[in-house]
Amino acid sequence: MEQELAGKVAIVTGAGRMRSIGRPIAKLLAEAGAKVVITGTGRPPERYPNDEKAAGWRDIDSVADEIAEIGGTCLPVVSDVTDEAANDRLIERVLSEYGRLDIVVNNAGAARGEDRAPVVDLPYEEWRKVIVTNLDGTFLLSRAAARHLVKQGEGGSIVNISSIASKLAGANTAAYASSKAGINALSRSMALELAEHQVRVNAVCPGIIDTYRMDDLGRDEQWNQVVRSRIPLGYAGDGSECAEMVLFLVSDRGNWITGQAINVDGGTVWGN
Ligand code: NDP
Repeated sequence: MEQELAGKVAIVTGAGRMRSIGRPIAKLLAEAGAKVVITGTGRPPERYPNDEKAAGWRDIDSVADEIAEIGGTCLPVVSDVTDEAANDRLIERVLSEYGRLDIVVNNAGAARGEDRAPVVDLPYEEWRKVIVTNLDGTFLLSRAAARHLVKQGEGGSIVNISSIASKLAGANTAAYASSKAGINALSRSMALELAEHQVRVNAVCPGIIDTYRMDDLGRDEQWNQVVRSRIPLGYAGDGSECAEMVLFLVSDRGNWITGQAINVDGGTVWGN
């Protein structure tokens, strides 16, 4: 049977971390037959977490190797989502390597940091870092990609990795929640603008996924308590569930779905 993404070319941003959402997305799209371009910041190895160091991890190059091992095609590129010119260059690079573009997954996000504070204590710089990486980054690459997808004239699919925080907007998460709510709105606006070109735009809103960004919550009783109290299904995601939703949305199976912000969260959030 032909692979469902055979002949398609996809970009997945922020896909170089070992315990992450980007890595399983990139691998699943490649398994489905897409040629995949993955990006990262080119973070220095001395800043890798201990488990990555122990595993001899090499960021996006390791993910590219894994994809090659399963017979897929992957191009790892260091590219900063906050840099307007870099996003334009990324699209040019994809076109010069593979001749087309069909799918973009805006997954890169600012690391959890000093922004997890009440607004009255939130430095502007921290607010700006989160908004610029998450929202501006998604806007810049989506715009560059959409310009090409319209010109290419064969439809396409953009999936923006948002968060259930966009809907819960809890205390001490103003910058993050606002950036992700902005991503939902951007997705909807773009979906309406691009529908006539059969370019679909959706947001996926993960719940609690056990990646590096959660390490600061600890891995002891405190983590178990978060999981027990917030996830009806009783366990955290590992990114593979988000990857399955992304594959569904970008494949023909998701053909009639656009402009949505879909929760993948073990039952944490209900409704919009
Ligand atoms: P990580 O923080 O582990 O990964 C984020 C990725 O984004 C990293 O690979 C990072 O690159 C990359 N990145 C950060 N800044 C830039 C930049 N300026 N240019 C290019 N890439 C950049 O997060 P997760 O895997 O946990 O999350 C992935 C996405 O899912 C994020 O958007 C996050 O907000 C969202 N999400 C995560 C949830 C969770 O529970 N984990 C829940 C809901 C949403 P590098 O490795 O080089 O630093």
